[in-house]
Amino acid sequence: MGKLKLFPGCNCRYYFFGRCIYEEFLNPGFQLMWKCRVLAGLEKDYDGLIHQADVFDLSISQVESIWEKRFKNLDSWGDLCASYIPRKPGDDRCLYLYGNACILEMSTCQGVCSVFRPGKEKDIES
Ligand code: SF4
Ligand code: SF4
Repeated sequence: MGKLKLFPGCNCRYYFFGRCIYEEFLNPGFQLMWKCRVLAGLEKDYDGLIHQADVFDLSISQVESIWEKRFKNLDSWGDLCASYIPRKPGDDRCLYLYGNACILEMSTCQGVCSVFRPGKEKDIES
């Protein structure tokens, strides 16, 4: 007998770029491995800087100045992630960012499933 083929899930409200955002929609931030690597990297750097500030007793202005210097030559998120695409003119959030998670890391939609809900969200708000 032939393999059962599911209808494509592209009209599902949880379908974005071939991936399923349902799990992230239900439990935002739960899957740590889906976190945007740019945000994760910045968070790690900032935590490191705060730790450094504690150890060396740095003032807030010293911390700010170190942070600014560190990113002085950074033009866009594209310098930190090769998959980055700005959402639209005037909005430089990444097209693939959903909350703090990267849609490209999420599971591929295998077709219409029991969670399928018709209708598209207009935009992915973060
Ligand atoms: S593609 Fe976008 S959301 Fe994904 S890791 Fe890169 S910058 Fe973050
Ligand atoms: S059809 Fe199911 S797997 Fe596909 S996007 Fe919708 S909820 Fe996710």
